[in-house]
Amino acid sequence: MSDISQKILEGAPIDVATFMARAVENYYSTRDPFGADGDFTTAPEISQMFGEMIGIWMVDLWSKLANESAVNIIELGAGRGTLMADAMRAVKGVEGFSDAVNIHLVEISPVLRAKQVEVLAGYGVTHHVDLSMCPKDVPSIIIANEFLDALPVHQLVMDGGKWCERVVTAEPQFDLGDDASDELLALIPEHLRDATDGKIVEVSPARIKMMADISAHIAASGGAALIIDYGYERLNYGDTFQAIFGHKFCGVLENIGEADITTHVDFGALRSASGDAYLAGVTSQGKFLISLGVYQRMQVLKQKASVQQQEDLEVALDRLCSPNKMGTLFKVMAITSDKSITPVGF
Ligand code: SAH
Repeated sequence: MSDISQKILEGAPIDVATFMARAVENYYSTRDPFGADGDFTTAPEISQMFGEMIGIWMVDLWSKLANESAVNIIELGAGRGTLMADAMRAVKGVEGFSDAVNIHLVEISPVLRAKQVEVLAGYGVTHHVDLSMCPKDVPSIIIANEFLDALPVHQLVMDGGKWCERVVTAEPQFDLGDDASDELLALIPEHLRDATDGKIVEVSPARIKMMADISAHIAASGGAALIIDYGYERLNYGDTFQAIFGHKFCGVLENIGEADITTHVDFGALRSASGDAYLAGVTSQGKFLISLGVYQRMQVLKQKASVQQQEDLEVALDRLCSPNKMGTLFKVMAITSDKSITPVGF
């Protein structure tokens, strides 16, 4: 077994959340996972149109803030910086916007931080270790794309009428651990509490805390947040733990610390945790991008494109928006500091 696996499994059996937190930390701190040589791709890496639509969303939001004031744009888990670079480039012609903006990035990975500094060189970005370090002196626009899915979840298994923690043993294998704590039991939604043996529910105090922190930040600073991820609006039973290694799914206990591991995001739980701010809504990625004008943007890009590039644009748009690709599985949630602010797309 590799040194990394041994370190991640230290003290095994460990609960799934501990396993996930350690594996994700090792994974992101040691590589740039994106692109053809990496493990997986994300919407901003599929097409510039994704970041461009986020740029339009940010400008719309900014125009709805009092006096088009100074604004902090905060991105959580900014990957290669692609989304932010595409967003800022798309709206550079909007009078006053670039001058009003300061960009703050919350990023765990030293490798990706370096990449973000390079890609966003013209904007003078500031890095932070977590959201609590980001300023609240002026309104904020917080963006998080495929960030929450990497935060750890606990898997609880019904066994003999009791919910138990699912654990990872030293072998490594899955096993049943101790009874779930009261804190975790309280996170199981009402409609899932009575379950037959063997049913699994996934609950994530880390994601709920992150959403509560985002909401508290927005309530204090003013502004809005946009959360994009794959998942469901209503939690159901099931094991959604998945690992991707070299663009292929692998077992979650294979390539430990070397594969991208995630679970689906429960937007129902995020909604409940957004209490300090106003929920503008939850929509699908397809509807969101289309309402922001992604088709029109593609037509403009096609005018100057080669035949191959035109085809690539069509494929990318289909991938981002089609119900059978990312269009429906990916959800977009917005919260604002003020009920009267209605962000575009909601
Ligand atoms: N938003 C980007 C990257 C998504 S991958 C995109 O759409 O392409 C997840 C990102 O979150 C990576 O940049 C990863 O390094 C970062 N990340 C993961 N866990 C984190 C944590 N606990 N704190 C800050 N950043 C984290």
